[in-house]
Amino acid sequence: MNAPYLEIKGLKKTYNLKPILRGIDVVLDQGECMALLGANGAGKTTLLRILACLTKPGAGTVRIGGLDIGREAQHVRLRVGFVGHQPNLYDELTVFENLLFFGRMYSVKQARERAVALLKQVGLSRHAGERVGTLSRGQLQRLSLARALLHSPPLLLLDEPDAGLDDEGIELLEELMGEHREQGDTTLFTTHNFERAVKFSDRICMLVLVIFNFAFDLRVDNKAAIAPGALWVAFVFASLLGLGRTIASEQEKGSMDRLMLCPVDRKAIYLAKLLGNMLFIGVVEIVALPIFAALFNVPLFTGELLPIVLLGTLGVATIGTLFSAIAAATQARELLLPILVFPLIVPVVIGAVRATGTLMISSINEPPWLGLMAAFDVIFLSVSMLMFEYVIEE
Ligand code: ATP
Repeated sequence: MNAPYLEIKGLKKTYNLKPILRGIDVVLDQGECMALLGANGAGKTTLLRILACLTKPGAGTVRIGGLDIGREAQHVRLRVGFVGHQPNLYDELTVFENLLFFGRMYSVKQARERAVALLKQVGLSRHAGERVGTLSRGQLQRLSLARALLHSPPLLLLDEPDAGLDDEGIELLEELMGEHREQGDTTLFTTHNFERAVKFSDRICMLVLVIFNFAFDLRVDNKAAIAPGALWVAFVFASLLGLGRTIASEQEKGSMDRLMLCPVDRKAIYLAKLLGNMLFIGVVEIVALPIFAALFNVPLFTGELLPIVLLGTLGVATIGTLFSAIAAATQARELLLPILVFPLIVPVVIGAVRATGTLMISSINEPPWLGLMAAFDVIFLSVSMLMFEYVIEE
């Protein structure tokens, strides 16, 4: 087993008396890659800036490579490569001069050779002599990546590294992150792209919950009001990660036509996909529930929760499976799927949130909410089975 490289315990941060981070606990092993997903303003950048020793933590401890970021910041900086929202480069210097300057600041041996190699790797060799002030946003992002990797840091902190990159740039980023990981180095990155988060990170579900943990004020008196909503939003978010791959993976590999050529009823294909998606969401829920119960300190392990989770999962999966087939045919499926799915699953999610909330307060199930969810599940399932054949063949 790898040793922990990043250890965060009880990390808190407040800006102008407003709590931004409320006691984060994260352990990231050497060679692990973690994605931070979260709403705008959840505190992702703040967290990365603290880890990069750019902002002081309010309370708690952070150790990077065994070093305390408060006491040994200078040594920590040598171990960290950071790409933030701003390029943090000198506009007046050329691309090459920038890398050379930072190479010297980090005491990189053979900085010249390293800069040449990195510029080639990020596809900027042709622009080496151009002033940074004249570069495009995507080129700046590539250069920022090169600068972050210059001193071969064991921990890479990337704040939305995909922002501004074209398809080729994204491929390059994936390649660089893959290489970093293969070398046994650690990465923590933020993104708003679910697929990228799933593709690269070893852990993601827990972070959705962690974000909720510090995004809301969970005092005892408002816990019952917020916790069920946060739980179901986390489930739905995580579910979309799997739902997005329902048909897309087969389409990308060209095996969808082969499946459609089989003499099998389309409804059977739909039901098989639905079952697969329910299993995926089920696994997500099994992993997320104990973490959620621990983070939010709420009693959720009662048999009464099972029908709520089953009916809620069925509702999300029926609609999600159908619409993933529609979205898979488009370029912007990651964006389209939530837009199509969210409005339709609202009644089921409201039912699930209300039923979970009632259960937390009174420990009994109230039939109206379960009945509502069951009714919508039946409607969703019937309509989806009827429509799937049309959707998949058009
Ligand atoms: P996004 O997804 O939009 O990048 P984020 O999750 O990275 O958001 P942060 O940039 O960390 O969020 O900001 C979290 C909160 O902290 C916001 O409400 C922001 O206004 C506040 N904040 C961040 N930096 C400062 C600062 N220097 N002074 C005061 N408030 C700040």
